[in-house]
Amino acid sequence: MATSPQNTQTPEHVIIVGAGMVGLSTAWFLQQRGVKVTVLERSAVAAGASWGNAGWITPAMAIPLAEPAVLRYGVKALLDPSAPLHVPISVDPPLWSFLLRFAARCTGRTWRRTMASLVPLNVAALDAYDELETDPDLSVRLTAGPILAAFREGEHADGLLQEFEHIREAGLDLEFSDVPADRIRELAPVVAPDISRAIRIDGQRFMNPGAYVAGLADAVRARGGEVREGADVRGLRHGPGGISVDLVGAPPVTGDAVVLATGAWLPTLARQYGVRTSLRAGRGYSFSVAQPTDGRTVTNPIYFPYERIVCTPLGDTGRIRMGGTMEFRPTDAPLYPQRIESIVANAAPLVEGLDLADRQDEWVGARPVTVDGLPLVGPTNAPGVWVHGGHGMWGMCQGPATARLLAEQMVTGVTPSALRPLSPTR
Ligand SMILES: Cc1cc2nc3c(=O)[nH]c(=O)nc-3n(C[C@H](O)[C@H](O)[C@H](O)COP(=O)(O)OP(=O)(O)OC[C@H]3O[C@@H](n4cnc5c(N)ncnc54)[C@H](O)[C@@H]3O)c2cc1C
Repeated sequence: MATSPQNTQTPEHVIIVGAGMVGLSTAWFLQQRGVKVTVLERSAVAAGASWGNAGWITPAMAIPLAEPAVLRYGVKALLDPSAPLHVPISVDPPLWSFLLRFAARCTGRTWRRTMASLVPLNVAALDAYDELETDPDLSVRLTAGPILAAFREGEHADGLLQEFEHIREAGLDLEFSDVPADRIRELAPVVAPDISRAIRIDGQRFMNPGAYVAGLADAVRARGGEVREGADVRGLRHGPGGISVDLVGAPPVTGDAVVLATGAWLPTLARQYGVRTSLRAGRGYSFSVAQPTDGRTVTNPIYFPYERIVCTPLGDTGRIRMGGTMEFRPTDAPLYPQRIESIVANAAPLVEGLDLADRQDEWVGARPVTVDGLPLVGPTNAPGVWVHGGHGMWGMCQGPATARLLAEQMVTGVTPSALRPLSPTR
């Protein structure tokens, strides 16, 4: 444990910028420690990546993106515009610098080092959700259930099994088993007849993310916090009364401390406070389709690792979300329908009984991907200004765990050891 040199005074009122999973979990865990919170969101609750994602709370699978296979795969993807990884061939020197530095990290050694820093977050992930779910004002719950990884070619499972071995070596508890071919459809009734191999991963959970984050916002409000939508933050000013947060077209809001939790938009406000780790939008796409009408119901997530497509049942909505893709384009670029079409084309041979033409909720969201694969959690170089974000592929899973640690650090002035590698000014 180490005390942070600044930001040591316990704040009474914290302003959190961004109402995604990360910002709202921060608000909730600060409230848990008796701190008053105001959440400022420029759009609406879960307007960013926290809405249309896959909602997998799967700490046993929350691993660094940079690994040797991604590098091999990435080069191939550059030549194939319908591949799940997409980097537009454009003149964007900062993007290419990011990708080159990212590629340099795709080694087994760096993966193990990065993983060692993620393990404490993953170990705490479900426990942090359990604590959240003790709140009687929280109307939403995670669903427990197996994840089924499905393959058309049996040998395509080998890569996943190798990954699982590395995850276990890193110290994470991962329960998995081969599913006999004649039982695959009991767990995943919509997989195509030629899916010949499946691996069942147990001990994990999932959610309908938009509904869960909306429920969390309601819980923060019910505990006395303010969650203000349409509050676009354009800058911060330090003054004698604390930190004033300037809004577009509205009077400033003042608090003792500010947490920037603005997802893939983090650099805009945080860079000036010494947050230099490169962060880019790794954009993913999703849509929903109706559950089959012939009595088969998808009740747990299905993963097609080879095609990089995920399917998640969305609670009692009667719909299933399908998603995938990692597209490196500017955060606010429009939705490219070709990316949705490419998910549909890749998914069509893998499933049956789902009407992929009758899609709703077509969506693109920006994963906040840091170049070194670690979230940014802790104080900045400005007194009272903190950062919480950069969880990349796993902000839904790890967000509450890092929020709990951050709230501890903000209130006690002591840096939990799990947060040391995540310093935003590293
Ligand atoms: C297709 C896809 C699938 C995914 N699947 C999973 C999964 O299964 N499990 C998992 O753990 N993770 C998953 N992720 C990743 C996860 O969605 C993100 O890591 C997580 O949502 C990030 O949360 P956040 O709160 O940091 O960011 P966001 O949800 O993007 O929230 C940031 C908020 O800040 C607001 N904001 C920005 N700038 C300002 C400003 N100036 N003033 C006020 N407000 C501002 C934005 O409007 C936004 O609402 C997936 C992502 C994608 C795209």
